[in-house]
Amino acid sequence: MKKCEYCAKEISYHQMYCCDDCQSSANDFYDMRDRITKIMSIINGVCVMSIGIGIFVFSFYREIGAYMVSIPLVILGILYIFFPIPADVMIQKNKILKAVKTTRIIGIILLVLGIISTTVAIFTI
Ligand SMILES: [Zn+2]
Repeated sequence: MKKCEYCAKEISYHQMYCCDDCQSSANDFYDMRDRITKIMSIINGVCVMSIGIGIFVFSFYREIGAYMVSIPLVILGILYIFFPIPADVMIQKNKILKAVKTTRIIGIILLVLGIISTTVAIFTI
């Protein structure tokens, strides 16, 4: 059964979206994605690199290492919540609406982890 590309409701074979609202929401999503995809991937790369290096640095310089991990987690969390751009495989599998929601939930988890680890770093190191 074919599903609406936005909300994943079941639709007939000649349709792509179940309604005009879904079509315009999907267009808005793709516009937003086209605009910010480049800057997002740069910030993403920097944050992931910082976390990777931070874990290594942590064994020598605990304070610097802790912040190199915890601050990028906060940044990534905020980005995923406000600019959720799911991976293409997620969109293909779950359609846009659910994929965006899942990305936001990941963002909230990252933000919470980031806030907890920043707080721990401030008070214990
Ligand atoms: Zn729909």
